[in-house]
Amino acid sequence: MPLKSVWLDGELVPWDDATVHVSTLGLHYGIGFFEGIRCHATDRGRIIFRLADHLRRLASSAAIYGVELPYPQGDLARACRDVVIDNEFESCYLRPIVFLGQGLDPFDTPFRAAILGVDFGPLTGPPSGDGVTAKISSFRRMSHESLPPAAKATGQYLNAMLAQGEARAAGCDEAILLNGDGHVSDGWAHNVFAVRDGVLMTPPPSSGALPGITRDSMITLAAEAGIPVQEQTMVRTDLYLADECFLTGTSVGVVPVLAVDGRTIGTGEQGPVTGKLIAAMDEAIHGDGHPEWLESVE
Ligand code: PMP
Repeated sequence: MPLKSVWLDGELVPWDDATVHVSTLGLHYGIGFFEGIRCHATDRGRIIFRLADHLRRLASSAAIYGVELPYPQGDLARACRDVVIDNEFESCYLRPIVFLGQGLDPFDTPFRAAILGVDFGPLTGPPSGDGVTAKISSFRRMSHESLPPAAKATGQYLNAMLAQGEARAAGCDEAILLNGDGHVSDGWAHNVFAVRDGVLMTPPPSSGALPGITRDSMITLAAEAGIPVQEQTMVRTDLYLADECFLTGTSVGVVPVLAVDGRTIGTGEQGPVTGKLIAAMDEAIHGDGHPEWLESVE
């Protein structure tokens, strides 16, 4: 795991020096905002997928809490590239995090920033390589009135941890959460899609879904492939009765869900629409269709 360097508070520092003090308030109260971003090796060199969009979401997550990023987005974009270059990553996962530093009063303590790169593969995803099983969690996605789900904020992942811990204890790979109204919102770290009669469906952000960058890419790619897409309120039986179901996220890409709550989805194998979208995503990363999504490292 130890790598060469981490970007911390404006400069690259040796991996072993990238530590924080135990009095760091971000640690105590879970006050922080973060992103997960992918850098891919392509024939045209290393590219970071939708870097500006990820950093815009980081700024939005902070803004929801009335916080301004401690560095301009342009500086953070440069820092992401520097982490890739300095650590000589071919491809990697980048984790920018903005967190509350040392202090006593959370409202009068400066935020700090770090960007960490890791070169392991997907953080989650199909253990078998074919697809995953999912469980609808008994823990509900937190509401817009408590912890706004549009923010990718550190403390909010306690909700995800409860759900995913329950799914794992039940022998399933991934948790899917309903909101307080019983509508499908999100995976614990992914967005959820279903296909029925050729139509692609995904819950709207009003249901508590994080506005995922991969989700947004999927909606665009599906429309381009002539697949009808509907952002619509969904209930758990929309998943049970789907012909296909899949999860999307930066860490996993696009992963077929083969069963939900022990009910086989469709044929129990990756479906044709899912396959088409996995291929379209790969083409978007390696091809010419969406140059605006690809930011060169070099
Ligand atoms: N929902 C949640 C709760 C997540 O944590 C993530 C991961 N960021 C996603 C959805 C997927 O978002 P993205 O495609 O931007 O990684």
